[in-house]
Amino acid sequence: MPPDILIIGAGAVGLASALELTQRGARVTLLDRSLSGTESTWAGGGILSPLLPWNYSAAVNALSEYSRQLFPDWCARQESLAGLEAEYQVSGMLVLPPFDETDAFAWCGRHGWCCELRDSAAWLPTIAARKSLWLPDVAQARNPRLAQVLRAAALAVGVNIVEMASVTRLMVAGGRISGVQTTQGDFAAAAVVVAAGAWSGALVGIDALSERVFPVRGQMLLFKLPPESLAGSLPTIVLQNGHYLIPRRDGHVLAGSTLEAAGFDKSTTDAARLELLAFAGGILPSLTEQCLQQHWSGLRPGSPDNIPLISPHPDYTNLYFNSGHFRYGVTMAPGSAQVLADLIEGKSPAISAAPYAFPSNFAAIAETDIQEVAAN
Ligand SMILES: Cc1cc2nc3c(=O)[nH]c(=O)nc-3n(C[C@H](O)[C@H](O)[C@H](O)COP(=O)(O)OP(=O)(O)OC[C@H]3O[C@@H](n4cnc5c(N)ncnc54)[C@H](O)[C@@H]3O)c2cc1C
Repeated sequence: MPPDILIIGAGAVGLASALELTQRGARVTLLDRSLSGTESTWAGGGILSPLLPWNYSAAVNALSEYSRQLFPDWCARQESLAGLEAEYQVSGMLVLPPFDETDAFAWCGRHGWCCELRDSAAWLPTIAARKSLWLPDVAQARNPRLAQVLRAAALAVGVNIVEMASVTRLMVAGGRISGVQTTQGDFAAAAVVVAAGAWSGALVGIDALSERVFPVRGQMLLFKLPPESLAGSLPTIVLQNGHYLIPRRDGHVLAGSTLEAAGFDKSTTDAARLELLAFAGGILPSLTEQCLQQHWSGLRPGSPDNIPLISPHPDYTNLYFNSGHFRYGVTMAPGSAQVLADLIEGKSPAISAAPYAFPSNFAAIAETDIQEVAAN
């Protein structure tokens, strides 16, 4: 384990990596150009599973299943270090039609997931009595709170968190990364981890990486139900046609989300607000504009087929990436941190890291030299 490790980006992935590496004996400095956990990690929904796992590749499911198994104990450990709660709960998910029943049952059977067909009307009186798919094991965490938990836990174990420090350049000496330049001065390190979410590609300035990690905008609405319509109104996460409602314990309900290629533009749009309002009101008529509290967008670190990049760089072997988790970076954070730490320590991870490596032709297609390029 290199003694001093710099991590760029304090979202769920960078924070989880910092915690794991520190607990394995490294001295970790975690840099963020803003406040920890305020980008995609804040903007997401906190569902701790791929939405319909049978639609994803083995590479996505291997990492998300590994992570899902780690999550309850991992989260409890961080909560106890932090003295804060992330509101982890196994609230289950009801998938409304259409869905592929054969694929769903086959996948759930193979992966030991509970899964049954239920009458949706028994759950949601507004929905016509059609068979829905009930997945009782799906969990959620309140992601903004999880970020606070991870930040406090990281501080408690001794991670040096430096916020409002934008990394502007990776420094190279003798064919290795020697540190980074930031708006708060230079930081030297024996190893550097890029966990800068959607900005990871732009940060290292390699054109080829922009096809491996890129921004995908997601818009979300937040409702607060009045107390009289609270009781039992939405007992579980509900998913239909890629849209979902996520109930929180205190009566907040999230409706998400869009998937948009809008570059680094974090604006919200009327079209998305209307689309999500129509979806939310169609499931639960009490979710109206009157109880709409907030509308935001976040930039997911998109990746081809949702397969993250957890790997050393092919040329700079002390430069690591933990990024591109796309729709499931909160779900995958603990597992990805384990895989990263194992790779840094030269150990074999519990799951194969091969699917998350740089493509073998990456060095040949990468045109831009890291040291010449400043981050935007
Ligand atoms: C609408 C929406 C819904 C989602 N729902 C879910 C869900 O239900 N479940 C799930 O698992 N995932 C969900 N996600 C995805 C999840 O939020 C992301 O995959 C995850 O947050 C990625 O974490 P990250 O740490 O890689 O990135 P981020 O949280 O974006 O963190 C990256 C950090 O890097 C910092 N940074 C960037 N550039 C620099 C620089 N030059 N110098 C220093 N710091 C820098 C940023 O300030 C930021 O804090 C959702 C995302 C969105 C937008």
